[in-house]
Amino acid sequence: MTLPRPHIVILGGGPGGYEAALVAAQLGADVTIVDADGLGGSCVLTDCVPSKTLIESSTTMASLGRSASLGLQLEDGSNPTITVDAPALYARIKALAAAQSNDIVEHVLAEGVRIIAGRGRLEDPRTIVIEGSSERVRADIVLITTGATPRILPDATPDGERILTWRQIYDLPELPSDLIVVGSGVTGAEFAGAYQALGSNVTLVSSRERVLPHEDKDAAVVIENVFRRRGMNVLSKSRAEAVHRKGDSVVVTLADGRAITGSHCLLTVGMVPSTSGIGLGEAGVSLDSRGFIEVDRVSRTSVPGVYAAGDCTGVLLLASVAAMQGRIAMWHALGEAVQPIRLSHVASTIFTDPEIASVGVSQAAVDRGEINARVIKQQLATNPRAKMAGFRDGFVKVFARPGTGLVLGGVVVGPRASELILSLSIAIEQNLSVDQIAHTFSVYPSLSGSITEAARSVMEFGTDAIL
Ligand SMILES: Cc1cc2nc3c(=O)[nH]c(=O)nc-3n(C[C@H](O)[C@H](O)[C@H](O)COP(=O)(O)OP(=O)(O)OC[C@H]3O[C@@H](n4cnc5c(N)ncnc54)[C@H](O)[C@@H]3O)c2cc1C
Repeated sequence: MTLPRPHIVILGGGPGGYEAALVAAQLGADVTIVDADGLGGSCVLTDCVPSKTLIESSTTMASLGRSASLGLQLEDGSNPTITVDAPALYARIKALAAAQSNDIVEHVLAEGVRIIAGRGRLEDPRTIVIEGSSERVRADIVLITTGATPRILPDATPDGERILTWRQIYDLPELPSDLIVVGSGVTGAEFAGAYQALGSNVTLVSSRERVLPHEDKDAAVVIENVFRRRGMNVLSKSRAEAVHRKGDSVVVTLADGRAITGSHCLLTVGMVPSTSGIGLGEAGVSLDSRGFIEVDRVSRTSVPGVYAAGDCTGVLLLASVAAMQGRIAMWHALGEAVQPIRLSHVASTIFTDPEIASVGVSQAAVDRGEINARVIKQQLATNPRAKMAGFRDGFVKVFARPGTGLVLGGVVVGPRASELILSLSIAIEQNLSVDQIAHTFSVYPSLSGSITEAARSVMEFGTDAIL
């Protein structure tokens, strides 16, 4: 006798949704994704993928700017100015995002997943209705992955022309000449750095004492120094109260009464979960005080059979975490062996120049005494490969357990730190010690050599003595 295939309906087609759909389909479930804006979600269409594509261009621009220091010159000996072709830059970004979304559509269709384009809402914990249609989709299991949207300030209404969220910048006809970025968290720092490298004059308005207030302090100091050295106007302890249009300018008013004028203002002040108006309360799904869906470590909500994943749950707001939460939900719902999500193993990167990548325990947790760890720090400036490439800002930091030397975490600040961090991620996942890293070959010369060198610096003194 063949058992009926469970029908899984996924509300939202971002990484939390489509990765879950692939797992569920491969496990033999009947899967439907209901998605309003296009598969890949905000991650692919407006947030992660477009911003990282923009940053590829800005990083290349920064490299070109360093060419003279590497002994390179145009043949005619003139002093060339490299400028940005904004329409071409933005067209490339949008085309790349659309192509990535299409690839995902093809992939999930090939796995037999049904896609319904439309806005859905829970009528009850087992029924999704599609806005503007009479269609009702019945489900055995529901996964909510509706993501989040940019938070805006009450007195700063984006107009899509001068006052912008990051989802609107790719429609600009030109590069902002004087960009004011409000908010110095990850998104603010990434865009401020990218636009500065592309040639905009940038003012970064930070309500906190330093940029990236929630990240490793040493890393944030490096980035802030680099920003200032390159000419960015970083305003610390400056809270933006209002942003208004004045002809072709914008005026940002700060809480202390100061006013800053620019050509454009980019608001990067956080995310609001997309959880209202979709029937969650009526279905009994619990939300926290900020509107995020409450989930446990296998993505269950307060209602049996209703799971949630990704930004709508407020758990770390990363594409990789959304995808893992979605997969875990499906493994759990379909009765597979499943390991609850381990947030202490999540690797993440801030794509500034230099990049900041981190994994595992944080310096802040060590400083608060929550984690007993020895901290080893190796400056990138002494690395031969970094010298050859003309990089001097950055470091490798490793957190290790005293006694055993087990790697508990790490921070890499440097070019392509997003790639370098993998060795520390593997060390944490596989319970490796600094001793084992120190005995691992790295290429000479290489930036990753700083990771093995950091590990060796512990060994020079003897692991037992130091750890
Ligand atoms: C500027 C920026 C850069 C980022 N860069 C990175 C990065 O480099 N690395 C990284 O890991 N993360 C990054 N992130 C975070 C990452 O984009 C998110 O964590 C990720 O998009 C979350 O995926 P998700 O599936 O939860 O939601 P989303 O990607 O937001 O997708 C949600 C989908 O649900 C749909 N939807 C919403 N409501 C409904 C409804 N009622 N019915 C039907 N469909 C609905 C939406 O249309 C959307 O398609 C970045 C975020 C921002 C803002």
